Amino acid sequence: MPTLDEVKRDLATDYRFHQKMSVDEIKIILENEDMSGNYNVPFVLEAGNLDIEMVIDFGEYLNDVRTEPVSLEYFCCVRIDGEWESYDIIFDDVILDVPDIEAEMFRVLSKYAEEKGLSFFSDKNVGRCEMQTCERCKNSSLTLRMSFFNTQMICPACIKTEKAHAGYQEAHDTETEAVRQGDYNFPGIGLPEDLARRYPHAHLKGHEENGENE
Ligand SMILES: [Zn+2]
Repeated sequence: MPTLDEVKRDLATDYRFHQKMSVDEIKIILENEDMSGNYNVPFVLEAGNLDIEMVIDFGEYLNDVRTEPVSLEYFCCVRIDGEWESYDIIFDDVILDVPDIEAEMFRVLSKYAEEKGLSFFSDKNVGRCEMQTCERCKNSSLTLRMSFFNTQMICPACIKTEKAHAGYQEAHDTETEAVRQGDYNFPGIGLPEDLARRYPHAHLKGHEENGENE
């Protein structure tokens, strides 16, 4: 992958770094769980056809009670025919204590682009950016990943909901242990009932049914 300097030089005005808050302001929000009218995308790095956005995740609410702490995450968007489309959550830790946030975000985006075969420059991305249907919520998404609870291929929004669920850690650890034991086809511990109720189509592909009856 090209370096940040090369990308800046080659993309010229197609490279932009937007900063809406300082690192200290973000830290104060995280400490105080403060979400009063703050912009929730403090940094955006746009490089040609890819961008990386640092997002303050204010978490899910249940009966007005927050179910998880305020946290930071990275999100990737892809530009197709001049329009920015949401692509995926990048599961790298957001580290604020770095000498240069811009360089750090470029590092995370480059690594992600390399893994996914995405390009800053060319229209190579187009073939990788077919709209797909999330097997859980049935919304369209450019990217799907396998659920940790069952074998459904699901969109970034559903991944996020899954991660926020109380049973996620167990599902994650059980899956990881199965793979460690050589079981690469482990079907998951099953979708928790409350999530299954939330998505009327979801139970059709729970592992009890072997996922084949749709
Ligand atoms: Zn979904």
